[in-house]
Amino acid sequence: MKISYGIVGLLFGLVFCACNTSGSEPAPDLNLQPKLGILDLEINGSVFNTVINSEQVSLTRDLPFGTTSVKIKTISLYDNNATTLKAGDVLSVDGTPIIFKIKNNTSQKELEYTLTLTSKSYQNAVQKNGLLRTDGSKIVNKNGLPVSFAGNSFFWSNNGWSGERFYNASIVSWLSLDWDATIIRASMGVDESGGYLTDKLANKNKVKVIVDAAIANGMYVLIDWHSHHAEDYQTEAIEFFTEMATLYGEYDNVMYEIYNEPLKISWSQTLKPYAEAVIQAIRIVDPDNMIIVGTPEWSQQVDKPAADPITSSTNIAYTLHFYTVYHTQWLRDRATAALSSGIALFITEWGSIGYTQNDPETEKWMEWCKANKISHCNWAVNDKAEEWSILRAGANINGNWPDSNLSEAGLLARKIIRAWEK
Ligand code: MG
Repeated sequence: MKISYGIVGLLFGLVFCACNTSGSEPAPDLNLQPKLGILDLEINGSVFNTVINSEQVSLTRDLPFGTTSVKIKTISLYDNNATTLKAGDVLSVDGTPIIFKIKNNTSQKELEYTLTLTSKSYQNAVQKNGLLRTDGSKIVNKNGLPVSFAGNSFFWSNNGWSGERFYNASIVSWLSLDWDATIIRASMGVDESGGYLTDKLANKNKVKVIVDAAIANGMYVLIDWHSHHAEDYQTEAIEFFTEMATLYGEYDNVMYEIYNEPLKISWSQTLKPYAEAVIQAIRIVDPDNMIIVGTPEWSQQVDKPAADPITSSTNIAYTLHFYTVYHTQWLRDRATAALSSGIALFITEWGSIGYTQNDPETEKWMEWCKANKISHCNWAVNDKAEEWSILRAGANINGNWPDSNLSEAGLLARKIIRAWEK
């Protein structure tokens, strides 16, 4: 998904100055460099911002593949500038340069820009990277290159817990389009009220809607057995994951997350035997898709599987969760040590401090994720009144969210996900 669009600003003023290099002319006045203001484009309700650095103007993210036209959402100019472009104008995305001018009504100087819009590569994340697998502590793509992905986690799927309202295909499409998410996580509640054990069909169907939508959008998807007591329901886990592997084992998109957050229980005596039993059942049906295993103490004790890893199967990663209000350098140090031991980690949940976009600890975690190529899903797609919800109360349950629908945590998460490597 390499960027293949470009917007090049040509500055009359600079061109003029460049033509007058005899030394008799004064140095160019940098204040005459163009100040376009704000030019935002819109596709299917998603806003594609531009950034302006001196005479260079560029989009902050790729236009979707197949885009044939974009609408100008906003154009507002600094100073006393004017242009013939206006909000609502439709621009073609066919590689044809779009010429427009900006005139400063004070200086009467006119600046000319060439705007060229093309859409991104036809390859989505899964087409580009194929089946993910662990290679020591790295997760690599079909070409053996270390890769990482950023996206969202849905909230518990349990009937009546509010997060279930967002389990629909249009949310997945919106997160792909507007957040540029390349991974999504369906968090199927198991043993709590309204979960899988009390309504298997409804909860399973919610998961399938998300998985099918992820496949349709070319995203990776985690099928998460969202429980704190999964070792008590091993038979049910085996039944469920056998069915999921039968349905989806052929799709490179799918990963099985067989235990969200164990409590502070023994890895070697309790968790590992549970994981090995479920893994064995999955492998009968699906020999190769990645399986992600929760770690003790709400998926913080990654040192335990590091010391005693699962060797009965391949393509196994281990879960690390962090919430910056609780988890800081000490957990990164523990995770770094676990990676050094040779196990692969997957952050299937993370949460910022909440209620603010200013979270230095989140920045440290993301630097760590980048440095170590660790994938991550942000908790959670919901409008519940808690610090990690990405949405404000009343946000559209089908996506198409204006910024005003997003919480501070949501705005921060979107910024991180949009900017993640593609
Ligand atoms: Mg498979």
